[in-house]
Amino acid sequence: MRSVTFAHSPHAVTVGKMLCLGRNYVAHAAEMKAEVPRLPVVFLKPSSALPAEPGKVRFPAFARELHHEVELVVMIGSRAKNVTAESAMRHVAGYAVGLDMTLRDIQAEAKRQGLPWTVSKAFDDSAPVSPFVAPERVSDPHDLVLRLKVNGALRQRSSTGMMIFRIPEIIAYLSTVFTLDPGDLVFTGTPEGVGPVARGDLLEAELEGVTSLSVHII
Ligand code: MG
Repeated sequence: MRSVTFAHSPHAVTVGKMLCLGRNYVAHAAEMKAEVPRLPVVFLKPSSALPAEPGKVRFPAFARELHHEVELVVMIGSRAKNVTAESAMRHVAGYAVGLDMTLRDIQAEAKRQGLPWTVSKAFDDSAPVSPFVAPERVSDPHDLVLRLKVNGALRQRSSTGMMIFRIPEIIAYLSTVFTLDPGDLVFTGTPEGVGPVARGDLLEAELEGVTSLSVHII
């Protein structure tokens, strides 16, 4: 099991499962030529997808195309099963910015064949996350600027206000399918502007005014 940290606290939190949304921003669904979903599109990453070495993502030898997807990440703080959207925010322990690193060539082939996305999304180092920040320190999680630079050049910039499914609905929906446990993480989907990275690149992700993350591709 791997752990993540909080920006203003010395203790680490052991991560359980990571639940990730696909197509949760209209402009990203459009750039992927995908329909806007009626229910959240969900996939999983294991805790082994948190980087073995903080700040480093190893480009897998078996893939050709590694893409960045910058996302707001929500940490679950207390057990949730079949909760309502109205009560869902009580279960949030923190927010971070994360990268849903994706092997786009392998995902495209899986889509073509109607096969699962697991290899393209859940490989080692595919889920780097920044230090988390407690909800009391975030005035409105649906009004945050998400930004990603690669080697200093801006690649993605949007607002979490553009999410199709918002955090309370996401948690309520996920809790009908899964028991959410303390230390589970929810990746809430990426805005438009996804693209390739190469070995040697420096990725700088930011949840403006909240927290940030730097990652080297090796
Ligand atoms: Mg994503």
